[in-house]
Amino acid sequence: MTVGAPPRIHLLSQIVADRIAAGEVVERPASVVKELVENALDAGATDVAVDVEGAGSALIRVADNGSGIHPDDLRLAVQRFATSKITGADDLMVVQTLGFRGEALPSIAAVSHLEVTTAPRGGAGGRRIRVNGGTVEAETSVGAPPGTVVTVRHLFFNTPARRKFLKSSAREFSLIVDVLQRLALAHPLVALRLTHEGDEVAHYAAGMPSDRAASVLGERVLAQALPVGQTADGLTTTGWLGRPELARGTRRQQYLYVNRRPISSRMLSAAVEQAFAQIVPAGRHPVYVLFIDLPAQAVDVNVHPRKLEVRFDDDHRVFTAVSRAVRETLRDARLLRPVAAPSSAVPVLSGVLPLESVPATVTQVREADLATSGRLPAMRLLGQLHRTYLLAQGEAGLIVIDQHAAHERVLYERILAARRRGAAASQTLIQPEPLALGPGESGLVEHHADVLRVLGFDLEPFGDRTVLLRGVPAVAAAGSAEHLLRDLLAQAGEEVRLGAADSLLERLTITTACRSAVRAGDPLSTEQMVHLLRDLGTAEDPFTCFHGRPTMVVLPLEQVERWFLRR
Ligand code: ADP
Ligand code: MG
Repeated sequence: MTVGAPPRIHLLSQIVADRIAAGEVVERPASVVKELVENALDAGATDVAVDVEGAGSALIRVADNGSGIHPDDLRLAVQRFATSKITGADDLMVVQTLGFRGEALPSIAAVSHLEVTTAPRGGAGGRRIRVNGGTVEAETSVGAPPGTVVTVRHLFFNTPARRKFLKSSAREFSLIVDVLQRLALAHPLVALRLTHEGDEVAHYAAGMPSDRAASVLGERVLAQALPVGQTADGLTTTGWLGRPELARGTRRQQYLYVNRRPISSRMLSAAVEQAFAQIVPAGRHPVYVLFIDLPAQAVDVNVHPRKLEVRFDDDHRVFTAVSRAVRETLRDARLLRPVAAPSSAVPVLSGVLPLESVPATVTQVREADLATSGRLPAMRLLGQLHRTYLLAQGEAGLIVIDQHAAHERVLYERILAARRRGAAASQTLIQPEPLALGPGESGLVEHHADVLRVLGFDLEPFGDRTVLLRGVPAVAAAGSAEHLLRDLLAQAGEEVRLGAADSLLERLTITTACRSAVRAGDPLSTEQMVHLLRDLGTAEDPFTCFHGRPTMVVLPLEQVERWFLRR
């Protein structure tokens, strides 16, 4: 932003002032820092220095090299509802600046000893005003460099109740750091500094967004983070997602922005956390920085006194877009869930590892490599463990795949894909089979004929209490169709009884996939394993089964190395 002449300040009309979301602007030292740094950013500053003493209770000074305030406007600037940022009520709908209410300086001045020194660019003289507890004490001309310095001393000196509510200095100061970091992440082109009792606490040089994110979040976190970049439906979502293993016990490392304004939003937090739900353990919260940018008229920023919340004209649209951006980023990252491995290995005392079907020849191994196409990370199949898990070597370490969960996912998506194409995934039996139905079952067959057909059953009435099975779901394992049908009928009867009929098709689809998948304990040939992995690689979401369990986990090599005391 180029810094020009200071925009002029005016009093808002009563009509506009009445529309300002009322409430307490200055709650604690961190709110003062937020308002003052926001003013500096709005003034186009490229360099902002924040000095704090006594966790903000003794002194907060914010110095910037922005536009400055016109000398004739300085007195207005400390009055309520005086602003250079909006004029009419319509402007409230399309606010582009961080501030817009003309409330911050007067609110701060009312509860502190405030001093503002300012000079516009281009040599016109500087000016200084001093306000004590809301009363203007002095206004003088001074020599000052271009920009503005706001000094706030003795915050809450005249409001002991407010002062009493402050937390420990350490806590108040950490809130100040948090405020500064939140603003810093969204303004990488602005250099920001923070000192406390004269010691430099943070120094963010101007740079690329990723440089700024690295200095705020830490190099290591950012190096591992997954960049997000998606535009859909007039809404852009950018930023970074921390890997699941970085998830914390608190939400403090979640940075959410709407049009570069730091906000908090239950709805959007939920959108992100739901997308993470299957890869972050319950009670842990993912780390992320997300910038949501959309047209100003689609957001109302005038809803919270400290501007910490916004309202969207279409919640659903924003939720969906953010949720999709996060989901797809996680999916494309081919995230495996790392296992919490025991910190020391259980010694193998005797015998060999019960590996079965270890591919022995070069051809088989190459075939196994091919199996890892699609969405799966590169891996080489090693074999089957206890007839339940496939073992594979991946870049990160040992990958363990739950054969049942994996197959379930494959079959489930296959059924859905067939349904989307409008075809029931059915295989016709060469020899139709008559099936005797139990009491109650014939009624269910009739009642749920449509659902059964969509799932792939081709049933023909055949006398009383008997149907002719002409076709079965394509995914059904040989010889298991009759059993599956009875299971589905039982489940349908039960669910309808429980009033859960509306999602019946979905639930029966899940059951069909589950009952048709290979089970734990089924021996698999190398060929079958290779097939399974290849199919899984083409699944839309290969990493979780629809029960929310992972289909695979990775035992990181570092962990193995730790067992052998190599690290
Ligand atoms: P708002 O930011 O909502 O307009 P404030 O009370 O924070 O209200 O500030 C009042 C006005 O003072 C602003 O509109 C702006 O014109 C001017 N101002 C405040 N701080 C600065 C600054 N650091 N640099 C330039 N102008 C400033
Ligand atoms: Mg302001």
